[in-house]
Amino acid sequence: MSNPNFSFKPMSGKKIDQLATAYISFYQPEILKKPAPFDVHRFVDTKLEDLTGVVPVYSRELPPEIYGLTDSSENRLEIQEALAEDPFQEKFFRSTLAHESGHCIIHVPQLRKINRGQVFRQGKEEGGVQLYRKDDIPLYCNPEWQAFRFAGALLVPEGPLRMMLADGASNFEIANTFNIHQPFLRSRMKALKLI
Ligand SMILES: [Zn+2]
Repeated sequence: MSNPNFSFKPMSGKKIDQLATAYISFYQPEILKKPAPFDVHRFVDTKLEDLTGVVPVYSRELPPEIYGLTDSSENRLEIQEALAEDPFQEKFFRSTLAHESGHCIIHVPQLRKINRGQVFRQGKEEGGVQLYRKDDIPLYCNPEWQAFRFAGALLVPEGPLRMMLADGASNFEIANTFNIHQPFLRSRMKALKLI
């Protein structure tokens, strides 16, 4: 803990969206033209370590209330194995992976630079941003807000979302197309001021 006053770099929602879109354009550009799910599972399993130095591990040892955890000093991303293997939780699994990818991509390099370790946990009750509500961290510097925004941008890129809305698709169809839960879609649409 070398610098107690450390705060993460501020990032606008737009900037985070651009970052996520850059990854999509590189790994799965076709989905920017024709809406489809981003294969975040494959992205984490085959690209994340090369990109960030963080090794993804599917763990049986995480307490059941913790779904995912990024430990910057250990360079480990742990995901609850039961979540990864439960076909009924695929959508939630995908959003957990996307959220943790946000921590690995945005926050781990900043922590590494100042030689500081931090553990990000994603748990059952976590709305994420609420965890920090009592702190004075501005939203744009809040690592949980940033990771949620990144997850939204990675799984529901703005262009394809707008395409579907223009075609009159229902929220049900849109959520299915991107393989996410409807509440996840709603918060993404709120973030983009579409609702
Ligand atoms: Zn988090």
